[in-house]
Amino acid sequence: MTEPTHDEAHGGALGSRLNWLRAAVLGANDGIVSTAGLVVGVAGATENRAALLTAGLAGLLAGSMSMAAGEYVSVSTQRDSERAALALERRELREQPEAELRELTELLEARGLSRAVAREAAEQLTARDALRAHARVELGIDPDELTNPWNAAWASFLSFTVGALLPLLAIVLPPAGWRLTVTVVSVLAALALTGWSSARLGAADPGRAVLRNAVGGALAMGVTYGAGTLLGAAGV
Ligand SMILES: [Zn+2]
Repeated sequence: MTEPTHDEAHGGALGSRLNWLRAAVLGANDGIVSTAGLVVGVAGATENRAALLTAGLAGLLAGSMSMAAGEYVSVSTQRDSERAALALERRELREQPEAELRELTELLEARGLSRAVAREAAEQLTARDALRAHARVELGIDPDELTNPWNAAWASFLSFTVGALLPLLAIVLPPAGWRLTVTVVSVLAALALTGWSSARLGAADPGRAVLRNAVGGALAMGVTYGAGTLLGAAGV
């Protein structure tokens, strides 16, 4: 393998690892907020531990499976369209190699190379691996690294589940008098952590992200607790 190929592969792997990490943090965040809202709402209506456990567990399973299915569908669709684009590119390279070489030259020129250097680069890239060159420069994809929908689905399922476990355990483990305090405090702390992590991974301001995330979670719990209390008071 030559040096440039090695460097590109390295940069791509790092970028996709960061994307995976961000997706995992966002999945956990979803699990925390939706399950916290659910169990705090039920806690507003009842002190029954079995009801809280049932609601929390059902919310965890429904949420993680819905996230996994959504991710599977979206990544499959994306992969289908990437495969179709690659197939079209492969056919164009076979049927009109001259036009394709011109196209690659123009694309490289548009990225700031001089005409002569772009032509030279396009010829070398075409000689080495024409399809990969067109996939990268023209389509912005790596034909060897199309995202696997099953991996994406598992990652969403696991990250949502890890996040959802926190409010679930926080509401069922402590004695009745401490449930809400323990849940609200641990959920806000966890949301501060996920907000901070996703901001750092995206190189954004962590302070704002922490505040937004905690306020969002507090709102979710406040609204469902209010609704649960009303229903409980009405004797539903
Ligand atoms: Zn092309």
